[in-house]
Amino acid sequence: MATVEYLGATRRFDPEAAPAVDSMDLRIDDGEFLVLVGPSGCGKSTSLRMVAGLEPVDEGEIRIAGADVVGKRPRERDVAMVFQSYALYPNMTARQNMAFALENARVPKADITRRVAEASRILQLDDLLDRRPANMSGGQRQRVAMGRAIVREPSVFCMDEPLSNLDAKLRVSTRTEIAALQRRLGVTTIYVTHDQTEAMTMGDRVCVLDKGRVQQVASPQELYERPVNTFVAAFMGSPPVTLIDDVPVESGHAVIGEDRVPLPIKVEAPTVIAGLRPDGWELSSPEDPRALEFEVLLTEWLGSEHFAYAKPCGDLRGASIRGERVIVRIGKKETLSPGAKLYARAISGEVQFFDAVTERNLC
Ligand code: ATP
Repeated sequence: MATVEYLGATRRFDPEAAPAVDSMDLRIDDGEFLVLVGPSGCGKSTSLRMVAGLEPVDEGEIRIAGADVVGKRPRERDVAMVFQSYALYPNMTARQNMAFALENARVPKADITRRVAEASRILQLDDLLDRRPANMSGGQRQRVAMGRAIVREPSVFCMDEPLSNLDAKLRVSTRTEIAALQRRLGVTTIYVTHDQTEAMTMGDRVCVLDKGRVQQVASPQELYERPVNTFVAAFMGSPPVTLIDDVPVESGHAVIGEDRVPLPIKVEAPTVIAGLRPDGWELSSPEDPRALEFEVLLTEWLGSEHFAYAKPCGDLRGASIRGERVIVRIGKKETLSPGAKLYARAISGEVQFFDAVTERNLC
């Protein structure tokens, strides 16, 4: 069973500074596709490289299939890594690139031929086997890099932003292919990305990191619906959540402008932070005394969805909107020009509430 476990795993590049990976605890199940996601510099690549043996572990343990691998060399770990840069040998053909590690490991020739043929069938590389990387597109090189990992038949795949060199359209189709391939092969996979859409669409579970620390590990749906804190709420979801600080609390209700939204639990604090997804607003009219008034800054039409970005005009009774703008989902046929007024109300069941000090979800 190729489980991967981080047990208080820490990596500290600079003894004076905060660790790049800080006491990480995480268990990845056999056959699971786990995505590590977070902003630039949060420690994703370092966490991944610690599993592959490309980065030492300063404190704690990393276990693969139950065995501590700290101190083991990369080739002793049965982990295959796929890099953003593909790292193909330019002077070798696709076939030679895939066979190389197996030849070095003295795998019998017949076995190598079988494994390369199988990987190229799965990845539809048959017509490219005799080409060198310079004569391939980015997507084709990426498939060869995947093939090189597959032929090793490892216990674990570690993938570090393998799609970031592809154009937007190819990224979308390739991410579906990788996710389907992983499910077919059933190999435990850790996949690093900074792209939350990639994380949401590919992972069985997603681990959100910030400043070297695990914030939340959950299914994509749970992360979206029940983020543990404002960081996760703001990071997951596109367009992002709107956070409203210093929302007054009055007898079990959050006061958003002239509206009163019931709080799901008893709150002693004088204020809370409210979080609203773009579809957490209900469009209203100037006649509605409980609606908030906004001025449209721009609209974003994505074909299947339509969003308005707008700044608040009315009195928020001491509350303030982070970034000074809300994002509201509007009807597909809605025509709102910049400068137009927009009236909207929070849909009570759709508001998330966070502690004003710890910023943790109150539910
Ligand atoms: P990105 O999305 O930008 O690739 P990341 O989340 O993968 O970022 P890491 O590359 O793991 O982040 O880096 C985590 C932290 O460790 C960063 O502050 C980075 O500057 C630091 N770091 C990474 N590698 C080294 C190194 N070899 N020496 C010193 N500091 C490093």
